[in-house]
Amino acid sequence: MTKEPIVPELRDNAFRDFMMKTPAGEKITTCMQCGICAGSCPVSHEMDYNPRQLVRMLQLGLKHEVLGSNTIWICTTCFSCSVRCPRGIRPTELMETLKPLAIAEGVKNKNAKFDNVFSDVIKKTGRASEFLLISKYSLIDPGMIKQATFGFSLFLKGKLPLSIDEMEETGELKSIFELGEKKEEKVKK
Ligand code: SF4
Ligand code: SF4
Repeated sequence: MTKEPIVPELRDNAFRDFMMKTPAGEKITTCMQCGICAGSCPVSHEMDYNPRQLVRMLQLGLKHEVLGSNTIWICTTCFSCSVRCPRGIRPTELMETLKPLAIAEGVKNKNAKFDNVFSDVIKKTGRASEFLLISKYSLIDPGMIKQATFGFSLFLKGKLPLSIDEMEETGELKSIFELGEKKEEKVKK
């Protein structure tokens, strides 16, 4: 992602105010840019902006840059940043708040594809089947072919079972997904 210089025209105060009213964003003004979140993040090297930068961008109301960054999709929700932040800011929850907003705004990000496939697998089986996940993801990301040898070595070591485990009762899970989809529709309107 090209990082443009921040100019006043890029700032969207309505977006910043909206985020500050969300449960995840209520403390973002207290961020002191200490960087503990970024230092704790196991995947910050893959991100367009690390969690510290993302919080600063939210303070500035840089809506387009925040919603367009891969950061919110790369986050593994490991919670290291949220647990360690000395100001009680919760970057993990911020990421989860920003994802539906990015979808609602129609922002396309190639890193969202994995999230979609993951949700799809969970929705159908109630379990995170690695085999199903990799198979489905390979269909939409041809780059996965490069990982074939690695996948095969995992299979040989018994770390990639082909059996697909399914939840016996998926009624509650379906309700959760339906609720999420309804909320997503509402945000889009
Ligand atoms: S750890 Fe908390 S206070 Fe420090 S930079 Fe990250 S969000 Fe800001
Ligand atoms: S929750 Fe996300 S942003 Fe925070 S440390 Fe983990 S991967 Fe990084």
